[in-house]
Amino acid sequence: MTNERVLFTAEAFYAHLKEQRLMGSRCVSCGELYLPPRPICVSCGGKDMTWHPFQGNGRLSTFTCIRVAPSAMEARGYGRNTPYCTGLVETDEGPTISALVLGVDAARPEMIQVGMALQVDFSEATGDHPALAFHAV
Ligand SMILES: [Zn+2]
Repeated sequence: MTNERVLFTAEAFYAHLKEQRLMGSRCVSCGELYLPPRPICVSCGGKDMTWHPFQGNGRLSTFTCIRVAPSAMEARGYGRNTPYCTGLVETDEGPTISALVLGVDAARPEMIQVGMALQVDFSEATGDHPALAFHAV
């Protein structure tokens, strides 16, 4: 096992994200995909994992709009008058991941549609606290 293979961590995930790559892990034994990456396969218990590039397309599974932002989001300019949307995105490959949802009006959540098409957006994957985001297509 190489050093790269033992590092299926959140830190490694965000390092890839900052390089504009949406990377998960794939079980070499059974092919199960994980996003974010996992070091051990939940499906078969296998520990032989490899990095897997995701295409970055998916659909909104569920969401919430937030006005009382944590400090890391306040630093991005979000807050009471500038709410943001976060949700679960089901990728075309199968795994579901939590992400910011951009390109929607978080002040009008009734206009946001579960099932809407989304595409990965690397605009928030910067700085000391990179975030995964998807943008409405
Ligand atoms: Zn497996």
